[in-house]
Amino acid sequence: MNRRYRKTIIAGNWKMNMTPSEARTLINGVKAHCAKSKWCETVVCVPYIDIPLAVRLLKDCRISVGAQNMHHEASGAYTGEISAAMLKDAGVKYVVVGHSERRQYFGETDALVSEKVVRALAADLRPIICVGETLQQRDMGITLEIVGAQVKAALSAVGADKLRRIVFAYEPVWAIGTGRTATVEQASEVCNHIRAVLRKKYGARGARSVTIQYGGSMNETNAKELLAELDVDGGLIGGASLNADSFAAIVNAANQ
Ligand code: PEP
Repeated sequence: MNRRYRKTIIAGNWKMNMTPSEARTLINGVKAHCAKSKWCETVVCVPYIDIPLAVRLLKDCRISVGAQNMHHEASGAYTGEISAAMLKDAGVKYVVVGHSERRQYFGETDALVSEKVVRALAADLRPIICVGETLQQRDMGITLEIVGAQVKAALSAVGADKLRRIVFAYEPVWAIGTGRTATVEQASEVCNHIRAVLRKKYGARGARSVTIQYGGSMNETNAKELLAELDVDGGLIGGASLNADSFAAIVNAANQ
């Protein structure tokens, strides 16, 4: 991480876990451990149903609330969907866009991710854009091409003035929920490449302002060495964010 130019952000992605009553306990635990975080911003990306509770419990503390998805249209006849404006009005600050589980199970394409990014920014939400290669793509030696193309597509309609609002999460698909973490060298190489792609499009100044997280089985044991890399500015945490102690240990590592 490089705190001189950009924010360090640790975000928990609860996925489809935690009923409102379970969420209350976890949020209180996270609040007790992480509210005094000095250097890094802490975010909890909770299921939609938990958003009002999370916003209420985390009011007056420095932990932000995020959503895990949103619809790409502004409003209308999209039964069951949630808009960016609804999230903003509910007190949400961040929204995860293009998570590999959404790409894999819900058919989300790079084009759709780009539309969501534009819509999120227009509603004054900060998108956390997930990019990453499958194991097959890594084995084929095309990781940097795949991730570079995802980054370019996600930002195809984003002007330089909005770049600071963007967060990227490099999440190798083969490391998500598998207990298999990318090595420090692998994580660093890809995060470095993402910044190089940003530099080419927006120039050095813009590129260095963007927070790039690593995600994929990050935990209290491996967080410190991953975060020591200059281009790894935080983490998107799945499994380990469901336990307040484990999540707090990662936030602590980011505060060192
Ligand atoms: C994720 O879902 O974004 C993630 C990184 O999950 P996990 O930490 O469980 O691998």
